[in-house]
Amino acid sequence: MNQNFTLKKSKLISDLENKGINNQDILKAIQKIPRELFLSKSFWNKAYDDNALPIDCGQTISQPFTVAYMTQLLEVEKGMRVLEIGTGSGYQAILLHLLKCNVYTIERHKPLYEKAKLFFEHNKLPISCHLGDGSKGLLNHAPYNRIIVTAASPDIPEELLKQLEDNGKMVIPVGDTTSQTMYLITKKDNNFTYEEKGKFKFVPLVGEFGFSE
Ligand code: SAM
Repeated sequence: MNQNFTLKKSKLISDLENKGINNQDILKAIQKIPRELFLSKSFWNKAYDDNALPIDCGQTISQPFTVAYMTQLLEVEKGMRVLEIGTGSGYQAILLHLLKCNVYTIERHKPLYEKAKLFFEHNKLPISCHLGDGSKGLLNHAPYNRIIVTAASPDIPEELLKQLEDNGKMVIPVGDTTSQTMYLITKKDNNFTYEEKGKFKFVPLVGEFGFSE
């Protein structure tokens, strides 16, 4: 990594700390991931800005704060089975892998799925990558200790709640296509608690239990 990226990355880490990310494992993992590699060269100068940036298929790599915040809410532990809905660039999946989770990720756009899968394979990252409609979850690998939905959902899909293990947690941005509320959902003895965790703006979850195309 060149000197320029090193300085920008240190600045990003301290920005995340100032915004309330205090989980050192998450900050260390973000420090390790070369975010520029998920972007086209024309965006390399912005790779360590705390902003969402465009990737292929009209989608985005999420803002680093959003990635760190959702991950912090999930309170992941080593060996947990985590489902990510919306692979996008693969960045969030790698963060969860670096936190020692067993990661399953699903993406609806074939070119994004293929690119992320190739990146994982090339870097020998044991991340289970799937193509399909993640609004229905990923039934054949369920249940999961954690589910993270990285696209805006009109509702909380029932199917995802079913695929959550007891004592499981899910984070999901719920709202319309212009603004969403982040929900942290906890499952205990088949009861669910719902906590609101701020306003965000994501690209839409498109699928059977998401928005229509
Ligand atoms: N987590 C990604 C990352 O680290 O780069 C960013 C995700 S981007 C904000 C949202 C992604 O969700 C897009 O790639 C989009 O194609 C995907 N998506 C939208 N609806 C989906 C669905 N029903 N199933 C799977 N992926 C979906």
